[in-house]
Amino acid sequence: MESHKPMFQVENFDDEFVQKLVYDALVWCSLHGLVVGDKTYQKSGTVPGVGMTHAPISLLPTQFPESYWKQACEVAPIFNELVDRVSLDAKFIQDSLSRTKKADIFTSRLLDIHSKMLESNKKEDIRLGLHRSDYMLDEETKSLLQIGMNTISCSLPGFGRLVTELHQSLLRSHGDHLGLDSERVPKNTSNSQFADAMAKAWLEYNNPRAVVMIVVQPDERNMYDQHWLSSVLREKHSIVTIRKSLAEVETEWSVQEYGNLIVDGQEVSVVYYRSGYTPRDYPSESEWNARLLIEQSSAVKCPSIAYHLAGTKKIQQELAKPGVLERFMDNKDDVAKLRKCFAGLWSLDDPEIIKKAIEKPELFVMKPQREGGGNNIYGDDVRENLLRLQKEGEEENAAYILMQRIFPKVSNVFLVREGVYHRDQAISELGIYGAYLRNKERVIINEQSGYLMRTKVSSSDEGGVAAGFAVLDSIYLN
Ligand code: ADP
Ligand code: MG
Repeated sequence: MESHKPMFQVENFDDEFVQKLVYDALVWCSLHGLVVGDKTYQKSGTVPGVGMTHAPISLLPTQFPESYWKQACEVAPIFNELVDRVSLDAKFIQDSLSRTKKADIFTSRLLDIHSKMLESNKKEDIRLGLHRSDYMLDEETKSLLQIGMNTISCSLPGFGRLVTELHQSLLRSHGDHLGLDSERVPKNTSNSQFADAMAKAWLEYNNPRAVVMIVVQPDERNMYDQHWLSSVLREKHSIVTIRKSLAEVETEWSVQEYGNLIVDGQEVSVVYYRSGYTPRDYPSESEWNARLLIEQSSAVKCPSIAYHLAGTKKIQQELAKPGVLERFMDNKDDVAKLRKCFAGLWSLDDPEIIKKAIEKPELFVMKPQREGGGNNIYGDDVRENLLRLQKEGEEENAAYILMQRIFPKVSNVFLVREGVYHRDQAISELGIYGAYLRNKERVIINEQSGYLMRTKVSSSDEGGVAAGFAVLDSIYLN
């Protein structure tokens, strides 16, 4: 009778048992560095080791069908290649974003840097992409649909591995009681794969004294996720990491002959951005100057300005237009695999779709050209904004795209935050990391590099973990 408990009937778990699991999970997080800065401590975003709390987590892994998991893994290297191809087509990038440029000052500034690189004929020989492609499983159409391809500052590769290991550990201890097998949680080496890719880029740069520079936000409560990468770089590859904000780069830099980037007296081989993706990261001209001079230097940029722009929502929407993928990819199978993941995507100059979205706003998400969560528009706000834009005219339209709203299956989960668990209805989003490294014609790495599930209460529209909407999760294959 005991042995065939249906999986994940969380309704059946008694509070005492769940409390015990939560206790074990919280001890595990504390012992293994699955921690973030606690916002109630002023210094928790600047001084490591001060004011730490466990990262928000799902207590147990969330079920995910194995076939879709395989599909998501299989397309990772194809998406990596697509980003690389798109990055080389400067005209496509400039043309696709030309209207956005007029409506959105941030995109415009990024494009200016891109234009400057074109004018000076700057070519990136060594290209490092550390990406995360996010998906939701649409319940009605039973299809795996891409939310977006992130090419800058993809967060949580350090924690992807940890939350997977946490869940595996809990299932090893309590799996019998839960009716769950820890082997069904796929191995996750996101942290070491990203760090290894950086190390290989460092090797291509070929100066044993050079450091890796992480461009950070001045106040970063998610610093431990980043420190996990530095830790692998140091302990496995003997590579030193420095952490600098864009403002610090601007005051501490110098450039040597051949364009080598020197910051604080050290030559930088690889610049890894965990900042620089939102207007908030550029409060003054200093930060823009820093971004430009990094781009002009010979350091490997992760990402380069072209990779960054290739990951924008507008480019995503352009790539979804008929015939566009074919311009970049020769292999028909690859094109078909990518297209299969594309949700409906539209620009706002299509009157038919605008009419439909005003009628049924709940079926759409309206997105400005922003990253980092908390910017998208949902539900009745879609209608209001579309009506407002109709009055304001053509120009403003270009700041947004429309996307088909994806509706994943809702399941019952335990979300754990600040030491307390809540049972709730939730939906999940699977992020697949991808690493890509090439030097001229030589592709050195092109692989799927681990994963991260993020789970959020189904009533919340947005999804970021750092933004406070979602919790870290792993998957249980079924
Ligand atoms: P950002 O670049 O700011 O992270 P995203 O496009 O990734 O913006 O969207 C943020 C969040 O909004 C996602 O993590 C997801 O939870 C939700 N979201 C985005 N697009 C859709 C969509 N088409 N359908 C349903 N939810 C979406
Ligand atoms: Mg996103």
